[in-house]
Amino acid sequence: MRTHRRRVRRDPGSRRRNAPLRAPGETGEARAVGVAGRSIYSSKRWERARFLAKRRDKFACVQCGSRNKLEVHHLRPVRAAPELAFDLRNLKTLCRDCHEVETNRELGRVPDAAQTAWKSAVAELARPHRKEK
Ligand SMILES: [Zn+2]
Repeated sequence: MRTHRRRVRRDPGSRRRNAPLRAPGETGEARAVGVAGRSIYSSKRWERARFLAKRRDKFACVQCGSRNKLEVHHLRPVRAAPELAFDLRNLKTLCRDCHEVETNRELGRVPDAAQTAWKSAVAELARPHRKEK
Protein backbone atom coordinates (compact mmCIF):
# COMPACT_ATOMS: atom_id res chain seq x y z
CA MET A 1 0.00 0.00 0.00
CA ARG A 2 1.26 3.41 -0.91
CA THR A 3 -0.03 5.25 2.08
CA HIS A 4 1.97 2.95 4.27
CA ARG A 5 5.31 4.01 2.79
CA ARG A 6 4.95 7.57 3.90
CA ARG A 7 5.21 6.56 7.50
CA VAL A 8 8.63 4.98 7.26
CA ARG A 9 10.69 8.12 7.72
CA ARG A 10 8.30 9.71 10.06
CA ASP A 11 10.68 10.05 12.97
CA PRO A 12 13.89 11.82 11.95
CA GLY A 13 13.94 13.86 15.16
CA SER A 14 14.65 10.88 17.38
CA ARG A 15 18.25 10.72 16.23
CA ARG A 16 18.84 14.33 16.86
CA ARG A 17 17.49 13.97 20.35
CA ASN A 18 20.28 11.55 21.23
CA ALA A 19 23.01 13.86 20.08
CA PRO A 20 23.44 15.96 23.25
CA LEU A 21 24.42 12.80 25.18
CA ARG A 22 27.78 12.90 23.49
CA ALA A 23 28.57 16.45 24.52
CA PRO A 24 32.19 16.93 25.60
CA GLY A 25 32.80 16.83 29.30
CA GLU A 26 30.02 14.35 29.90
CA THR A 27 32.11 11.22 29.39
CA GLY A 28 34.53 9.74 31.89
CA GLU A 29 37.20 9.84 29.27
CA ALA A 30 36.97 13.55 28.92
CA ARG A 31 37.26 13.98 32.67
CA ALA A 32 40.39 11.82 32.92
CA VAL A 33 42.22 13.97 30.42
CA GLY A 34 43.97 16.87 32.02
CA VAL A 35 44.77 15.18 35.30
CA ALA A 36 48.56 15.17 35.45
CA GLY A 37 50.14 11.83 34.64
CA ARG A 38 46.78 10.21 34.26
CA SER A 39 46.77 9.69 30.54
CA ILE A 40 49.45 6.99 30.53
CA TYR A 41 47.13 4.62 32.35
CA SER A 42 44.91 4.25 29.33
CA SER A 43 47.75 3.55 26.93
CA LYS A 44 48.61 0.19 25.40
CA ARG A 45 52.18 0.74 26.46
CA TRP A 46 51.18 0.94 30.10
CA GLU A 47 49.04 -2.15 29.75
CA ARG A 48 52.11 -3.98 28.53
CA ALA A 49 54.48 -2.59 31.18
CA ARG A 50 51.98 -3.43 33.90
CA PHE A 51 51.71 -6.99 32.67
CA LEU A 52 55.49 -7.41 32.51
CA ALA A 53 55.89 -6.04 36.03
CA LYS A 54 53.26 -8.41 37.40
CA ARG A 55 54.78 -11.35 35.61
CA ARG A 56 58.22 -10.50 36.98
CA ASP A 57 56.76 -10.32 40.48
CA LYS A 58 55.03 -13.67 39.94
CA PHE A 59 51.57 -12.12 40.10
CA ALA A 60 51.81 -11.44 43.81
CA CYS A 61 52.12 -8.37 46.01
CA VAL A 62 55.83 -7.86 46.75
CA GLN A 63 54.93 -6.54 50.18
CA CYS A 64 52.53 -9.13 51.57
CA GLY A 65 52.35 -11.85 48.92
CA SER A 66 48.64 -11.40 48.27
CA ARG A 67 47.40 -12.36 44.84
CA ASN A 68 44.21 -10.36 45.08
CA LYS A 69 43.48 -6.99 43.54
CA LEU A 70 46.96 -6.47 42.19
CA GLU A 71 48.09 -3.05 41.07
CA VAL A 72 51.39 -1.82 39.76
CA HIS A 73 53.13 0.91 41.70
CA HIS A 74 55.62 3.48 40.44
CA LEU A 75 58.60 3.75 42.80
CA ARG A 76 59.18 7.20 41.43
CA PRO A 77 55.81 8.76 40.73
CA VAL A 78 54.91 9.49 37.14
CA ARG A 79 54.51 13.18 37.89
CA ALA A 80 58.09 13.28 39.23
CA ALA A 81 59.73 11.02 36.67
CA PRO A 82 57.55 10.60 33.59
CA GLU A 83 60.48 9.10 31.68
CA LEU A 84 60.39 6.12 34.07
CA ALA A 85 56.67 5.54 33.67
CA PHE A 86 57.20 2.34 31.69
CA ASP A 87 60.57 1.34 33.14
CA LEU A 88 60.26 -2.05 34.84
CA ARG A 89 62.89 -1.08 37.39
CA ASN A 90 60.56 1.67 38.48
CA LEU A 91 57.58 -0.64 38.88
CA LYS A 92 56.52 -3.06 41.54
CA THR A 93 53.43 -5.16 42.06
CA LEU A 94 51.32 -4.38 45.10
CA CYS A 95 47.89 -5.42 46.24
CA ARG A 96 45.39 -2.62 46.60
CA ASP A 97 45.83 -2.34 50.37
CA CYS A 98 49.62 -2.17 50.26
CA HIS A 99 49.42 0.25 47.37
CA GLU A 100 47.23 2.53 49.40
CA VAL A 101 49.65 2.46 52.32
CA GLU A 102 52.55 3.12 49.98
CA THR A 103 50.80 6.01 48.28
CA ASN A 104 49.84 7.56 51.58
CA ARG A 105 53.39 7.33 52.84
CA GLU A 106 54.67 8.81 49.64
CA LEU A 107 52.36 11.76 49.93
CA GLY A 108 53.18 12.15 53.60
CA ARG A 109 49.61 11.47 54.53
CA VAL A 110 48.73 9.85 57.79
CA PRO A 111 46.22 7.07 57.17
CA ASP A 112 42.74 8.03 58.12
CA ALA A 113 42.15 6.85 61.69
CA ALA A 114 38.55 5.76 61.15
CA GLN A 115 39.49 3.81 58.06
CA THR A 116 42.37 2.09 59.81
CA ALA A 117 40.14 1.13 62.72
CA TRP A 118 37.53 -0.24 60.35
CA LYS A 119 40.09 -2.29 58.48
CA SER A 120 41.55 -3.87 61.59
CA ALA A 121 38.04 -4.63 62.84
CA VAL A 122 37.29 -6.40 59.56
CA ALA A 123 40.60 -8.28 59.72
CA GLU A 124 39.75 -9.34 63.26
CA LEU A 125 36.41 -10.73 62.14
CA ALA A 126 38.00 -12.54 59.21
CA ARG A 127 40.43 -14.34 61.48
CA PRO A 128 39.42 -17.92 62.23
CA HIS A 129 37.79 -18.30 65.60
CA ARG A 130 39.97 -19.68 68.31
CA LYS A 131 38.53 -22.55 70.27
CA GLU A 132 37.91 -21.67 73.86
CA LYS A 133 39.10 -24.11 76.42
ZN1 LIG B 1 49.97 -6.45 49.71
